[in-house]
Amino acid sequence: MSYAFVINSGSSSIKFQIVDPAADASEAPLVSGVVEQIGEPNGRLTVHYQGEKHSEQRPIADHTAGLHTAIKRLEALGCGPSDLHLVAVGHRVVHGGLVFSQPEVINDQVVDMIRDQIPLAPLHNPANIDGIEVARELLPDIPHVAVFDTGFFAHLPPAAAIYAINKDVAGDHQVRRYGFHGTSHEFVSAQAAAMLDLPDAAVNQITLHLGNGASAAAIRGGEPVDTSMGMTPLAGLVMGTRTGDIDPGVIFHLYRHAGMSIDEIDQLLNKKSGVKGLAGVNDFRELRAMIQEEDQDAWLAYNIYIHQLRRFLGSYMISVGRVDAITFTAGVGENDRFVRADALANLEMYGVKIDPERNALPNDGPREISADDSQIKVFVIPTNEELAIAQKSVALVADHR
Ligand code: ADP
Repeated sequence: MSYAFVINSGSSSIKFQIVDPAADASEAPLVSGVVEQIGEPNGRLTVHYQGEKHSEQRPIADHTAGLHTAIKRLEALGCGPSDLHLVAVGHRVVHGGLVFSQPEVINDQVVDMIRDQIPLAPLHNPANIDGIEVARELLPDIPHVAVFDTGFFAHLPPAAAIYAINKDVAGDHQVRRYGFHGTSHEFVSAQAAAMLDLPDAAVNQITLHLGNGASAAAIRGGEPVDTSMGMTPLAGLVMGTRTGDIDPGVIFHLYRHAGMSIDEIDQLLNKKSGVKGLAGVNDFRELRAMIQEEDQDAWLAYNIYIHQLRRFLGSYMISVGRVDAITFTAGVGENDRFVRADALANLEMYGVKIDPERNALPNDGPREISADDSQIKVFVIPTNEELAIAQKSVALVADHR
């Protein structure tokens, strides 16, 4: 059997999976694991293989040490690169800028071109590049592929992609909407079309990726026509720790009057805002527990989250025109029935009606949660970005042979 090694390299962690690209979306991967707290004294490797969890704790100096430790552990378990037929290493890369709209087989020039996009994604692309460089060194005989989070949205209509900002400045600095979570929106929208038993091109839909990061996409006939994240993943919906859309004037105000540097404001808006900034927690399970204890901050944070989500839903229903399906995915979207129910409450006049019993079922694979008489189908579809990356990587490598 052929496998793909999928790597999602962050600034202090490397998540990895070994995936059979032909697997069913709901199947667990052969191997999944994560190296965490890279560069910290309490580094940790966790590997899941054959239903068992293997962990080790020790300082992990950098990404090279992290991936090296992981591969050594996989070899010891008998599921390492030399034990399996690995046909591709697929890397999640956050920002492809204007250069990459499709997955790309990685060579030195491609790495340089991904590096050129760092100004657009200073928080993400450097860590993605670290992962690529280390993995190419450790697994030199396997083709590596970059799959871009922005790729699915590369051809947004200009009216949705271009900001009303001075066009010379925007042009000089590649300022525009790129959109993110593209692999996830593409994956679940294809599944939604399959659940409707229709080709992608025949379906108009809205996909809501609600994880710690969150984004919405409007997709008409298989083509994205709008999405909520922008030049960076900071825009759009309220998220776990990010503001989502705010008046950009807030930034000038904080810079001029709160004595904050640009880097501090960047940290504030990306890491200390959103639900966490409002309620002190960013996990929706904790938020729900606080709401049940009548914590007012938690209740307000939740309402702000839902308010913003409904604003996007409403505008995307107009953008798409006739809507066939609305799909929830990612940690919150797949698991939090309150969010789903409140996001779509009182929309019967727009053809949306959730069935409360279906909505209350546990997260167990793709499912419909709309009532039989809902004109618009509402689905919960677990996302599987690693499988999507594996499939894209293996397909591209096969094309290149
Ligand atoms: P990311 O990939 O952006 O880190 P995920 O898609 O894994 O995020 O989503 C993580 C979030 O999902 C958690 O922060 C938590 O808010 C939410 N979540 C996970 N499980 C549940 C659950 N059972 N009920 C409600 N929310 C959940």
